[in-house]
Amino acid sequence: MAHNELAGGRWFPLASGRRALLGPTGDVAFLSELEVRALQPQALKLDALSTERIAELYAKHFLREAESDGMARLFEARVRARNETLDSGVSLHIIVPTLQCEHTCRYCQVSRAAVGDGFSMTREQVELAVDAVFQSTAPVLTVEFQGGDPLLRFDLVKLAIERIALRSIQEGRKVQFVVASTLHQLNEEMCAFFLAHSVSLSTSLDGPAHLHNRNRPTPTRDAYERTIAGIELARRTVAKYREEMNIPSSYMRKRMKERRATWL
Ligand code: SF4
Repeated sequence: MAHNELAGGRWFPLASGRRALLGPTGDVAFLSELEVRALQPQALKLDALSTERIAELYAKHFLREAESDGMARLFEARVRARNETLDSGVSLHIIVPTLQCEHTCRYCQVSRAAVGDGFSMTREQVELAVDAVFQSTAPVLTVEFQGGDPLLRFDLVKLAIERIALRSIQEGRKVQFVVASTLHQLNEEMCAFFLAHSVSLSTSLDGPAHLHNRNRPTPTRDAYERTIAGIELARRTVAKYREEMNIPSSYMRKRMKERRATWL
């Protein structure tokens, strides 16, 4: 079972009796005394928290799986993007290649049906978005693809990443990519491309299968199973790469921990 840990953060008492937890990513969570007691670093009691609260704490990087390189990379991207904005240009850029999504989540404000026109960028618009990213003077750029589900328009994501990667070399900038997706469309071709460009994949599970499938309806009612399949495919791809390159996972974890320690 995954071992959870609490990322660093500072507590602030509020007049209401609740407490604000400010994390290294700049995110804030407002918690009751009961919840604060459940979040003691040496004795986490997640059973005492609601599913919604746990999901919020994961999404805001207060909670993480201790051995998860993927979560560490997302954490790294968020912290770096936050800090670099303070003394250089805008470093975090979000591109929404399409609003289309196969899900109809009850809390979603943006998704549109996965068929039909007018809900996706054109290739020309993607190129303009790439130009806009490079108007920033930030030496390190984080480009995140959101949706809808960006993998429904992998052709546009690929176009943007290829253009940005090339231009970052020409301009001597460092760039990191994040794709936020349900992972339902993820296939081996996409995995190979993302691995080649060091793209982090970000996905969400609302909880166990029954809860996730209720919150995130799809015509086939298997949203949870398909997201899990996407996660496993991505993990297999990374594991195969490590094996081929002879990189022990313990080495990767050690490096991630060393790098995280400098941010906290
Ligand atoms: S998966 Fe994301 S984009 Fe799609 S409907 Fe749900 S919240 Fe909206």
